[in-house]
Amino acid sequence: MILDSFSLKGKVAIVTGSNTGLGQGICRAFAEAGAQVAGVSRRPSTETRQLIGDSFHNIIADLSTCEVIPQVVQETLDKFGRIDILVNNAGIIKRQDSIEFSEENWDSVMSVNLKTVFFLTQAVAKQFIAQGSGGKIINIASMLSYQGGIRVPSYTASKSAIRGITMTLANEWAKYGINVNAVAPGYMATNNTQQLRQDEERSADILARIPAGRWGTPADLEGAAVFLASAASDYVNGFTLAVDGGWLGR
Ligand code: NAP
Repeated sequence: MILDSFSLKGKVAIVTGSNTGLGQGICRAFAEAGAQVAGVSRRPSTETRQLIGDSFHNIIADLSTCEVIPQVVQETLDKFGRIDILVNNAGIIKRQDSIEFSEENWDSVMSVNLKTVFFLTQAVAKQFIAQGSGGKIINIASMLSYQGGIRVPSYTASKSAIRGITMTLANEWAKYGINVNAVAPGYMATNNTQQLRQDEERSADILARIPAGRWGTPADLEGAAVFLASAASDYVNGFTLAVDGGWLGR
């Protein structure tokens, strides 16, 4: 049955940023598809745990530093015994005019959105190779992996780089049966876009440009995430899949 290839039964996933927004939706969808999920968050993922139950384990870690990476990998192995899927979802955005953009706003975004993503991915890929049964890595990219955006230079730099390293890592690791892909959400109603949605003019401009005529929701991303985490995508490598209500095609 074709639908069996989308099942995540028996798989173990790490999802970063599991307490809210897109990460919470991905955790819920993975659990529904049969996976056990280690959700990483700096604040407790209490609501996510309530939604999912015993197949969810919360790892408390601040991903603004790479120091926590061994803990994230080891705690997942201690709890669930293996790792099959990694979703690099945790991310931050800082809005400031580029002419005044601070070094702090540059470094904080690049650390969480790019540096920790690369080194956590490297650590998990080593585990995949040691297990010998491949694995799935899904990076959360953005429309700003393709476009410039406004007043968000470090975010654009980080998300453009995410699309780039998704291809680099796919090139190097496909031979191990590791699929590295990304999902580029369009404009989704989460904490990340709260400031934008509160700005009436920007919000109306954005909405008018989305062919689907609405902001996306965490549920809109779930199908793409399950596809890229499952055997159904075994021959998909290095691709960034837009889930954007048509934004990029416009
Ligand atoms: P969100 O609700 O703000 O979620 C971001 C998640 O990342 C939260 O769980 C957050 O935890 C976590 N996080 C941030 N810094 C962290 C740190 N230092 N350590 C551990 N966790 C940290 O926004 P979202 O929209 O769901 O964002 C998820 C991903 O999608 C991000 O990578 C974002 O860039 C990307 N994205 C979003 C949109 C959109 O329109 N919403 C579009 C394109 C891409 P806290 O709650 O503790 O901060």
